[in-house]
Amino acid sequence: CGASPESCNTSHRKHDLPIHGVSETIVGVLGGGQLGRMLCQAASQMAIKVIVLDPMENCPAGALSHCHVVGSYDDSVTVEEFAKRFSVLTVEIEHVNVATLEKLEQQGLDIQPKASTIRIIQDKYLQKVHFARHGIPLPKFMKIDDPESAKKAGDLFGYPLMIKRKRLAYDGRGNAVAKTEEEISSAVQTLGGYDHGLYVEQWAPFVKELAVIVARGRDKSILCYPVVETIHRENICHIVKAPANVPLKIKKLATDVAYKAVSSLEGAGVFAVELFLTEDGQILLNEVAPRPHNSGHHTIESCFTSQYEQHLRAILGLQLGDPSMKTQAAIMYNILGEDEVATNLTGLICYRLSCLQGEPGFLLAHQLIGRALGISGATVHWYDKPG
Ligand code: ATP
Ligand code: MG
Ligand code: MG
Repeated sequence: CGASPESCNTSHRKHDLPIHGVSETIVGVLGGGQLGRMLCQAASQMAIKVIVLDPMENCPAGALSHCHVVGSYDDSVTVEEFAKRFSVLTVEIEHVNVATLEKLEQQGLDIQPKASTIRIIQDKYLQKVHFARHGIPLPKFMKIDDPESAKKAGDLFGYPLMIKRKRLAYDGRGNAVAKTEEEISSAVQTLGGYDHGLYVEQWAPFVKELAVIVARGRDKSILCYPVVETIHRENICHIVKAPANVPLKIKKLATDVAYKAVSSLEGAGVFAVELFLTEDGQILLNEVAPRPHNSGHHTIESCFTSQYEQHLRAILGLQLGDPSMKTQAAIMYNILGEDEVATNLTGLICYRLSCLQGEPGFLLAHQLIGRALGISGATVHWYDKPG
């Protein structure tokens, strides 16, 4: 409804029971991007109403949500005002005001996954420390505060050296690579300097990137989706191949690492575990997202239970659905507007578009959609991201 946090108080006051079906089920979601939009689509089939909080008036989830409250998920007053209306609150982005969520949790608000999980994940350095403590294999990492510690990290880990911002990172925007010691200072500068909170990771010589969506119920039961391969273009997930074309042994190892990583976190929901496969068959964890993920879009068409339906099932305490694939294979193209011609393409996702060769970014959206719809088994999802 595009309401302000204060005025959006009519039909969706706090309900006492979070259990779906006992009373009207309304889920509050921090963030209204494409993941929130797809969550709304799944919710509409399950008699669940979703209300999103997002600062953008024309955010992707806005039109499909029961109500869109316009406001910042980083602002404590706004989050508090918003969250108190719901019996269950979840996120579709991890960069939210977690201190407020912790406070609300102490007051009895039901947040899934738990605020402690969001706190760990939204700081990538803290995330690495947490997973290292739990014995999850990772690229070596260390905090850097100044040129001396950065040089020390380079001496220890070698080059290229991956320098990352601890917080507010997405689509690789908080990452910079120093190929040599001399490049450290310019890489640090592109990330805004040491004051922004940086750490470094040893370069992971991966042969493939893999990902596993893991669902965790309120009863702590865990189900893993099939391992997929993700191919990034300029740090953004571009193609997902499901299932990953890797030996069974690797699939099992990747699933074990993902299972163990998610077991170490608190709360219900789906989690995406991004992994590196190295030449010598090791699996290293890159990062975890506490929410549905681009690498799981294909589950809408290719799995018995989509990641979005699964997230809702998990946070509401419903039985988890079957995560296995009902199609033999699926491929997802994440097509984003990159230049003025392609602007109209922002957010087009095509499944199983093996016939769409070439550079689809240069075609007009409607042409691409038209072609996609002409291919048996292909589906198009429109993000509706403002240009
Ligand atoms: P996302 O949009 O997935 O949240 P992000 O901004 O958090 O991305 P990362 O996932 O840390 O960024 O890194 C983006 C990409 O950079 C990875 O998918 C991978 O291709 C590459 N990368 C990250 N860390 C390393 C590393 N230690 N060694 C080699 N490549 C890496
Ligand atoms: Mg990330
Ligand atoms: Mg990532």
